[in-house]
Amino acid sequence: MQYISEPMFHAFGVELAIKREDMLHPVVSGNKWRKLKYNMLEARKQGYKTLLSFGGAYSNHIHALAGVGRELDVTTIGLIRGESFANDNPTLSYARHCGMQLYFVDRATYRRRHEPDYIEELMQRFGPCYLLPEGGSNLLAVKGVAELWQEVSEPFDYVAVAAGTGATAAGVISGAPLATEIRVFAVLKGAGFLRNEISGYLDEMGYTTPWRLHDNYHFGAYARISPQLVAFMDRFEALHQIPLDPVYTAKMLYGVYDQIRQGAIPPGSRVLAIHTGGLQGRHGMETRMQSLRTHKEYAYE
Ligand SMILES: *Cc1c(COP(=O)(O)O)cnc(C)c1O
Repeated sequence: MQYISEPMFHAFGVELAIKREDMLHPVVSGNKWRKLKYNMLEARKQGYKTLLSFGGAYSNHIHALAGVGRELDVTTIGLIRGESFANDNPTLSYARHCGMQLYFVDRATYRRRHEPDYIEELMQRFGPCYLLPEGGSNLLAVKGVAELWQEVSEPFDYVAVAAGTGATAAGVISGAPLATEIRVFAVLKGAGFLRNEISGYLDEMGYTTPWRLHDNYHFGAYARISPQLVAFMDRFEALHQIPLDPVYTAKMLYGVYDQIRQGAIPPGSRVLAIHTGGLQGRHGMETRMQSLRTHKEYAYE
C-alpha cells in the first residue's frame, strides 16, 4: 500500500492510496496472478497436464500463463491473434523461453475462440487441455481477484480499477466491504458490454456493493494513447516513483485524477486505486510513447 501525496488532493480533501499488485510476483504480476490461481488449482484437480489460452501479441495474460506454466511444470499452449512474422516481440520471446507452444491464428479464426465447434477442433488437434478464455477471465478468476481484499485492512470510500474483460473489476466488487463504492475504468471504446459482463459475474458471486462504470477514459480505443496521457504518466512516475502501463493503469489513474478534479469524489473521501500490474507490456508502446513526447499537446496541466 503506497500513499500518494499531491497538492490537488489536499485542496479537494481527498486521500489516495495505491495497492501495488504489480509487486505480487517478479513475472506473474498483478491481476493475472490472482486470475490464474484457482484456475491452476482446478486444472490440477481435474488432472490436466496442458493449459490452452488465447491472447494478442503483447498479452499480459499470455505472459503470465507462460511464466506460471514454467514454474508449475505444466504444458502451456498460446493461440496468438495475428501472423507470426508480425509478432516477434519480448512478450512472445519470453513465452517461448518458458516453453509455451505458440500458434498464430488469423483474425477471422481468432474470433471463433468461443465457438464450441472451434474448441472441439482444438481438442482434436492438441488433445485434452484445460481451456482458459482470453485474459484468463472466468468465474474462478473473479474468485481469485476477490482475495486481494484479505490484504486491505483500512476502510476506503472508493476503489478504482481498470477493466478490459471486466473479470478483475467483478472480483474487486464482489469482495469489497459494503460501504465501499467501486469505480471501474474501461480501457476500451464501446465498453457498454462491460456492464452486462460484470453483472453476470456478480450475479453468480452474490454481492451488494455499489459500483459504477466509467466509459469515457479509453483515449480512443484499446491500447490507443494520447500526448496528454503520456504526459500524465511521465509526471506521475517522476513524482511518485511508481511505474505505470499505458494500456490499463495509466488510463485508470488519469480517470481518478479527473474525477477528483471534477469534484465527483466528495471531500473527506479515502480512495484506493488498484495497480493491476501489466508492466511487461510497456515495451510494445515505447516507440509510440517516445514520439508523443515531442507532440505539441504533450502536457498535463
Ligand atoms: C488484464 C489487465 C487488466 C484488465 O483485467 P480484466 O479482468 O480483463 O478486466 C487490468 N490491468 C492490467 C494491468 C491487466 O494486465
